[in-house]
Amino acid sequence: MPTRRPDHASPWVLDARPLGRRPGTMKAYRFSAPVKIPMGIEVLAVPAGAEVDLDLRLESVAEGVLVSGEAAGTAVGECSRCLTDIEVPVGAELRELFAYPDSTTAATTEDDEIPRLVDDLIDLEPLVRDEIVLSLPLAPLCRPDCAGLCSGCGERFDDLEPGHSHEILDSRWADLAAKFGVPTPIPGAPSAVSVVPGTNGSVVSGANGAASSAAGNASGIRRTGDTSSFGVGMTDADFISDDEEN
Ligand SMILES: [Zn+2]
Ligand SMILES: [Zn+2]
Repeated sequence: MPTRRPDHASPWVLDARPLGRRPGTMKAYRFSAPVKIPMGIEVLAVPAGAEVDLDLRLESVAEGVLVSGEAAGTAVGECSRCLTDIEVPVGAELRELFAYPDSTTAATTEDDEIPRLVDDLIDLEPLVRDEIVLSLPLAPLCRPDCAGLCSGCGERFDDLEPGHSHEILDSRWADLAAKFGVPTPIPGAPSAVSVVPGTNGSVVSGANGAASSAAGNASGIRRTGDTSSFGVGMTDADFISDDEEN
């Protein structure tokens, strides 16, 4: 927080003179200040035009003025999983010494470590900004268990029917299905599409990969009669032998 000359007229600037540089003197402030430059991170910030509520105590100490209290506001942004617009209450604890320019503290520290009083003025904006940014979640959510977006269609799971899924996730099988006219899977039997290439045992492919187990054919849709040379270029992982047909 490099020290700039505070603007006396800014609502973020407090005058420390009433404390009279008498250690132990204390003064309380409660007010709201408008945000000019959004306070936050890319996905979540207290926007320009919003107000931050400040509940502060200024306390004169030997080396300067100790500012403590709370800042509160409302950040707006979007859910990092489903991209829905969200509003999040934000709050930050403040505790910062503003050093007198002629103090030992000022002589032995940089002003980006310990801010200074300049002309007996305290600029709260950089302090509040830093603390609010630190208080924000890096990945904000609309709710803790947000289900996010369907990777198949990009829709929010919250907006879709329960159990929503896409049958063919492996593009190689989608291509084969199109080429050989394999019908799209029957609703209610979504776990596998199997094709039987002649006498070498049928080919069972899980439409969603995970179903490609030896038991996958139990719920699979079986097509017989296609003797075309499926399997060219396929790896063992794509095919699971099924001896039941033989
Ligand atoms: Zn969400
Ligand atoms: Zn979908």
